[in-house]
Amino acid sequence: MAKIQMKTPLVEMDGDEMTRILWKMIKDELLIPYIDLKTEYYDLGLEHRNETDDQVTVDSAEATKKYGVAVKCATITPNAARVTEYDLKEMWKSPNGTIRAALDGTVFRAPIQVKGIDPCVKNWKKPITLARHAYGDVYKNTEIKVPGAGKAELVFTGDDGTEIRETIHTFDGPGIIQGIHNTDKSITSFARACFSYALDTKQDLWFATKDTISKKYDHNFKDIFQDIFDREYKEKFEREGLEYFYTLIDDAVARVMKTEGGFIWACKNYDGDVMSDMVSSACGSMPMMTSVLVSPDGVYEYEAAHGTVQRHYYKHLKGEETSTNPVATIFAWTGALRKRGELDSIPELMEFADKLERATLTTIEDGKMTKDLALITSLENVTVLNSRDFVRAIRETFDAM
Ligand code: NAP
Ligand code: MG
Repeated sequence: MAKIQMKTPLVEMDGDEMTRILWKMIKDELLIPYIDLKTEYYDLGLEHRNETDDQVTVDSAEATKKYGVAVKCATITPNAARVTEYDLKEMWKSPNGTIRAALDGTVFRAPIQVKGIDPCVKNWKKPITLARHAYGDVYKNTEIKVPGAGKAELVFTGDDGTEIRETIHTFDGPGIIQGIHNTDKSITSFARACFSYALDTKQDLWFATKDTISKKYDHNFKDIFQDIFDREYKEKFEREGLEYFYTLIDDAVARVMKTEGGFIWACKNYDGDVMSDMVSSACGSMPMMTSVLVSPDGVYEYEAAHGTVQRHYYKHLKGEETSTNPVATIFAWTGALRKRGELDSIPELMEFADKLERATLTTIEDGKMTKDLALITSLENVTVLNSRDFVRAIRETFDAM
């Protein structure tokens, strides 16, 4: 059979450790035999980041802006131990942080649901997509441990000299203070990314904060979302029969438990951190989760939500077999290929992505899976495969389809 032809290259960001091994396996077994794969390759492996003084990460983000779609392998975020292990010139920043800052994006994560790996919440039939704002609030805070009695004030000094001053609290003994912020610019991009993604994936959008208590801070989030929705998205949502609604965060949490799923839940930074871990662990495990970074101007970067699976890599280096789950990395590729197919009007590429995802899930439903899934599945008589044999089993299912 003739290979599927591509028009525009995908930005390919290679990574580290066990996921780098999976990356090559997926390309060799599941992609290159079927697609005339066109990529612009950036090696974000830690050695190459170090050689290029991390310029390769910046270049890959720029290429993503140019071409519109990227697929990223998990990468090491260096800490002190990695600086020694890889003899690094510096403790380079997290590539995800650099790419996120360059694209000004929002991260959307959704569990990959499959028969036999059942959500703990019985009525969740369809995946719940978490949209997490990735800037500010408690993640960019300033804190003071108050030593004793005194007055704490919140002061803003404008560039034009205007001053706004509020008393936070008059302490009569030791305590704590925290200063947090966000910007209208960042909240606006977050809102646009959520509305665009909802339209793109044809799902309703929920947004929730605690505006009844935080009448200026959280209320500002609510107002910006509503304003952008009314001005830019309301008609488009109506045309697609989709709904946007705002509610209080505690109400949202209660309602989420009772739904069937199949919608997007936009959360402020902290809520998104906590709720995405809650949703993903209720649905199985990290390798069964898709993750995509979407910029407000429609640039997409697909990745796996888990890390480089270091513990498995060290076993691999010792020549031992590992049963590392490649599903999230396969879905990063299919997500990117489908998007490329959509943007370039290549229906065969979109069909290929759908079919490869189906083949992956069917293989699991047929009882062939990696160890992490075998430990939690409700299916009986399953076969635990190592990564390579699992990838080959997917290829057999795919060919049979
Ligand atoms: P991790 O790679 O996510 O792995 C943590 C544990 O989760 C593994 O030891 C394994 O458990 C399980 N696991 C994760 N992915 C799996 C998979 N595909 N198949 C089977 N089991 C899987 O996190 P980490 O070990 O804490 O971090 C390793 C490196 O990844 C770090 O250097 C970190 O900086 C980096 N990281 C990168 C990203 C990213 O690029 N997006 C995200 C997070 C972390 P068992 O050992 O029990 O089998
Ligand atoms: Mg977390």
